[in-house]
Amino acid sequence: MIELTSLLDRAIEALLASAGDRIGAPYLLGALVIASIVWWRHARGRRSWLAFLFPKTIWWHRSARLDYALLAVRTLLDLTLLSALAVSSTAVSFGVARALWRYVGILPDVHVSQAWVIAGFSIAAFVAEDFARYCVHRAAHRIPAFWELHKLHHSAEVLTPFTIFRVHPIEGLLNAGVAALAVGVVAGIVSWIVPGKLAAWTISGIYALQYVWNVLGTNLRHSHVWLSYGARLEHVLISPAQHQIHHSSDPKHHDRNFGSALALWDWMFGSLYVTRERERLSFGLWGEEPHHHRHVIAALTQPLWRALRRLVPSMRTNTHEQSADVSVLASGASPAWRQRASTPHARS
Ligand SMILES: [Zn+2]
Ligand SMILES: [Zn+2]
Repeated sequence: MIELTSLLDRAIEALLASAGDRIGAPYLLGALVIASIVWWRHARGRRSWLAFLFPKTIWWHRSARLDYALLAVRTLLDLTLLSALAVSSTAVSFGVARALWRYVGILPDVHVSQAWVIAGFSIAAFVAEDFARYCVHRAAHRIPAFWELHKLHHSAEVLTPFTIFRVHPIEGLLNAGVAALAVGVVAGIVSWIVPGKLAAWTISGIYALQYVWNVLGTNLRHSHVWLSYGARLEHVLISPAQHQIHHSSDPKHHDRNFGSALALWDWMFGSLYVTRERERLSFGLWGEEPHHHRHVIAALTQPLWRALRRLVPSMRTNTHEQSADVSVLASGASPAWRQRASTPHARS
């Protein structure tokens, strides 16, 4: 029991840390190397390496500067709110594992080598976490109040690796909590099947997969560098180009490619968009006023206020409600919500 608790603690710690590490030196270096290869193959001779990778119009854009400010906020929150959440997630995850022992029973001894336990747990946890993130992301586009929070991420007009921090803290908490829960459930199931085989350091298997994935250019998904994996591989893995498609303001790209690492979920549930050729994209909220959030305070409070208005009917007068819906329809509404809002049953 103690070992499992310690394991779950480390799992959650690892997840929270890995989110924050997305701009860690090895990952940025990996992105730099891959982006340099893209420059060498496609832009060498037309633009200098420096101008290709670090255009001032992107890195010093108003939208990018807001991302840097949100990084500071995120760092502060990591030290307070996220660590508090980690404790409760541990308790929930541990409860799931304990329920298996209590209500399903203790399984007969299974002889599995430590290597297989590590491999099995690492892959299962990676897949479970990725699926959990897919579900949360899809819900963020589907549920109007949640979309108000998620719009902050989509309001980025330029993409840099720091756009990963342009996520509302409440969405960040939800993402981290659901991901930690997914890993905790997998850890519980594995501990139930092969008690005592899942040592705390096994969790490093997740690290290894995440590490490799992140080094292989995850940071380029939030960048101006177009990197496609080709149509076949993009049915399995989300390429940087596919995530850039997700950020595109073009209606034909809306509500596509919700996946984090695996494209399989998008493929299975009909939201996949594979890239065939280089596409010229513009980012930001469609139809929204061009500068949705002018400063960090607005970026944190406006989404919250708008989400509350969607959740609490008494916060909206009839007039306000109508105008809010009109503004949602005319502005950065998720297509899924826009479609629902335009039907007679939309507000039921
Ligand atoms: Zn999204
Ligand atoms: Zn994004």
